[in-house]
Amino acid sequence: MQKGEMLYEGKAKKIYRTGEPGVYLVEYKDDATAFNGLKKGTISGKGELNNKISAHFFRLLEHRGIATHFLEQVGDREMLVRALEIIPVEVVVRNIAAGSLAKRLGLAEGTALPRPVVEYYYKSDELGDPLINDDHIAVLELASAEEMNVIRKMALVVNEILREYLSERNLELVDFKLEFGRSDGEILLGDEISPDTCRFWDAQTKEKLDKDRFRRDLGGVEEAYQEVWRRLVG
Ligand code: 5GP
Repeated sequence: MQKGEMLYEGKAKKIYRTGEPGVYLVEYKDDATAFNGLKKGTISGKGELNNKISAHFFRLLEHRGIATHFLEQVGDREMLVRALEIIPVEVVVRNIAAGSLAKRLGLAEGTALPRPVVEYYYKSDELGDPLINDDHIAVLELASAEEMNVIRKMALVVNEILREYLSERNLELVDFKLEFGRSDGEILLGDEISPDTCRFWDAQTKEKLDKDRFRRDLGGVEEAYQEVWRRLVG
């Protein structure tokens, strides 16, 4: 598949046109940023690992009936996806208190939540991705109520599928962020599912195996991403 014009370069990925209408090529970069771009770095091998890990999760979810943008992995750090009209809402699902939820609600990091918590954040670098609710989404006309119904249900099903799959691999799915988009009137799961966008803890030791190692300068970032991949396929 030919790599055409670059349409977009984000913090962790580049998107290219391909020879086929409606199909884009995603290239995963080794660049890492945190805290709305204030912290920058590179994690060697990250692009390749996130591509492989995301492709693995997308295949699993498709197999379990979730409609995603994923088409096929075409290179070490490249996948083909269906072009989406991205809905500018980051959907976060949480099983265990960590990160901004622990801070906002004053919960100790690691507190198990009695049920999953779904949150929405407005995707806006300028505003620093503020927490929003269904009313804000309606007022800003980011998505219809029907679309948000579908999105919430899909996010919770994705949580159940990934949580069970990871627990069999001795990993706890603490929380994660999803993005959705429209394609031919259908809502598809887009973006990526990787240690950049999820918190994974070792089920026994609670060792962090995700981007928090970069955010909090814990070291061993690449090794952690590799360990996640090893557990998925090992
Ligand atoms: P928190 O709100 O605690 O910072 O993040 C919750 C979860 O969503 C974490 O798994 C985190 O990795 C993911 N997440 C939230 N916002 C972003 C974002 O802008 N970029 C990335 N890569 N992940 C995010």
